Amino acid sequence: MYRKPHILVVEDDVLTAKIIVKDVESYGCQVDCAYTGGEGINLAIESVPDIVLLDLILPDTTGYDVCRLLRNHIKTANIQIIVLTTRGEIDSKITAFKCGANDYVTKPYDTKELNERITACLRVQRVREDLDKLIHDQRETRGNLLKAEQLAITDSLTGLFNRRFFDDIISREYLRFHRYGIFFSFMMIDIDYFKKINDSISHHAGDIVLCELSEVIRSQVRDIDILSRWGGDEFAVILPHSACDVAVPIANRILKAVSAHQFSPLTEGESLTVSIGVSGLPTENISKASQIVEAADQALMRAKKKGRRQIEIATHKDIPPLIAVS
Ligand code: GH3
Ligand code: MG
Repeated sequence: MYRKPHILVVEDDVLTAKIIVKDVESYGCQVDCAYTGGEGINLAIESVPDIVLLDLILPDTTGYDVCRLLRNHIKTANIQIIVLTTRGEIDSKITAFKCGANDYVTKPYDTKELNERITACLRVQRVREDLDKLIHDQRETRGNLLKAEQLAITDSLTGLFNRRFFDDIISREYLRFHRYGIFFSFMMIDIDYFKKINDSISHHAGDIVLCELSEVIRSQVRDIDILSRWGGDEFAVILPHSACDVAVPIANRILKAVSAHQFSPLTEGESLTVSIGVSGLPTENISKASQIVEAADQALMRAKKKGRRQIEIATHKDIPPLIAVS
């Protein structure tokens, strides 16, 4: 959308100011006028014009100081500044440019030349604005991408990692073990009789229990452990740099903490329990990350069969054979 270029004239001589304003208006610009340096600085900060036409000799300060101040203020740092002065000495020109002026025109000026110089400065100003917008848009796109990436790996109910992300992590941990021999262990945690909560209270109550449980589990694992919602009422934990001897006490802690927690949808004194299957490396016969998950799943099923609220550790018998793909 087209907008009129906005020019601020800083000129102490009222008659000269009138002539400049009239000329600049005739170029199709919107013009404001200030008669002192202080007034000019305040107006520039307030209205952020495209260009300041700046006299060097002012009653309260010099045009050089105004120039420096405008360059150092966050709102006016990028304004184009054209010095418009009777002083034609080379030293004055050099000082003005050193203070941050973009152009320098001597009075009396040629109206057509001033118009062209303003046009040239506006061109630079528009390119800068386009560049700023591009950078802003790029930052926004990057931010949105990051948000989308975060959403893609997060379970929307509990805020934990989701299974998709977890699959990647366990594959990576397995590769690390394979290459560097770094152990890790794995836990599959499943709520006992969770369906009852959905059926006897409500699905919403079930959701609250899932969220509270994720916090209870989180409070018992280490910062480096990776916790995810595997799906339904199942939670999975990877314990990097830890064999089963580290995982088992942590699983025990989780078992106790869950039983001790008063879940808000349950009546006072009523407790919730979980069963846990643990598997880990190094273990013979494992040659694929998914076998570690399946082994923990088998152990979990055993824990359920044995009466729930317990931990079972996977043995080599729980490791499913690899099916050869022909
Ligand atoms: P078990 O002790 O054998 O594990 O019995 P269970 O009742 O917990 O049975 P199971 O683990 O098979 O059931 C999981 C239930 O979780 C089934 C499903 O209706 C419920 N469920 C799955 N996802 C959600 C969810 O996001 N919110 C709620 N409220 N319920 C869910
Ligand atoms: Mg269950």
